[in-house]
Amino acid sequence: MIALQSNKLNRLFKSRPKVTVRPLRTVLPILIALICLAWVLFVTPAIAVPDWSYEGASDPGHWSDLQPEYSLCETGQSQSPINLRSQEDRNDNEVLSMDYHPSPLDEVNNGRTLKVIYAAGNTLTLNDQTYELVQFHFHAPSEHLIENKSSAMELHLVHKNAANQLAVLGVMIEPGAPNPYLEDIWQHMPAVEEENASPLDIDVSSLLPRDLSFYHYQGSLTTPPCSESVHWAVLKQPIQASRQQITTYQSRFHANARPIQGLHDRTIQFSHSLS
Ligand SMILES: [Zn+2]
Repeated sequence: MIALQSNKLNRLFKSRPKVTVRPLRTVLPILIALICLAWVLFVTPAIAVPDWSYEGASDPGHWSDLQPEYSLCETGQSQSPINLRSQEDRNDNEVLSMDYHPSPLDEVNNGRTLKVIYAAGNTLTLNDQTYELVQFHFHAPSEHLIENKSSAMELHLVHKNAANQLAVLGVMIEPGAPNPYLEDIWQHMPAVEEENASPLDIDVSSLLPRDLSFYHYQGSLTTPPCSESVHWAVLKQPIQASRQQITTYQSRFHANARPIQGLHDRTIQFSHSLS
């Protein structure tokens, strides 16, 4: 009787692990699958898709692979920068004028360029459209070529109108005399990725050359997502900066110029300054 009860108890205890193990065997593969799915969904993209840059696996040749939103960087037919050549097409009737005033200096080092945020109320008029200056920033070397020639740096003044259309004014910077206006900006340049506002006023019109003859063409942002329908006006006459000033910028920001893009069926207008 006792032996019989003991056997019953033994069977009872022996059978228990089978009862508890079976659900675990069923649940474990599901758990592993869920962990793998979470890894693929959340962890892998962070590793596999680096942010865009100017070198390595995320350089300009790979921008379109990084995000579907960047596809125009490869497929666009109106991309920037380009090689600007005055013999392409000539139109002396185009109008370019600026109404710029001093603004408090507000600089952002975003890790790729030095961006200067400009106060409201400063405008550029290109033919029949007026755009408001939002910010300007720098590239080294230049992004555009003028008559096949690169410059040490290029300044981009980014303007936007009420319909969110962009007009960018490009100014080449060549080695020469020290530039006192750039010196003010360089002195407040954030060394790391941060914003640095200063009580100093700057006037961006001091960064324009005397001769405002310009190339005009339809292009794109030169950074992802490479959006098109940007009006580009690039001044032919460069401004100057000392080699020391250029080196100071280059030591803070490594080469940040997108290579030139195909012209395709676009035309380039060249207009002499009216002043
Ligand atoms: Zn730019």
